[in-house]
Amino acid sequence: MELDLDLLAYLVGKGSRHMEEAVEGSGYLPKTVIGLGTFLLDIEGDVDLLTAKQKVTYERFLKPLLFEVPCQGISGPDTCRGDGVIEADLLLKSYREDEFRCRRCRDAVAALESDSFRQ
Ligand SMILES: [Zn+2]
Repeated sequence: MELDLDLLAYLVGKGSRHMEEAVEGSGYLPKTVIGLGTFLLDIEGDVDLLTAKQKVTYERFLKPLLFEVPCQGISGPDTCRGDGVIEADLLLKSYREDEFRCRRCRDAVAALESDSFRQ
């Protein structure tokens, strides 16, 4: 799994609220996780260079934001028409637009919208 550095840069910068939300209630400080994200950017996403402790933090908070983001479906998570996970190439777009949908759900929503325009 190649780490998407553009996505990581967004999450430690403009999109840091997603980091903060992920950390909320965990007892970790957002700055710890954002700091780790910044460090990962510096080492070009080479997770193997992290210490054991950093890896735990990475697996718990960063990896789910970078790889395993669930699709919110057409009208809720159980209405996803894909496999329930947003494709890697759509993640940055999803964060930027705050629309967490996989490709098939995006297509379905676009089709629904164009239908309702026609009526
Ligand atoms: Zn979906």
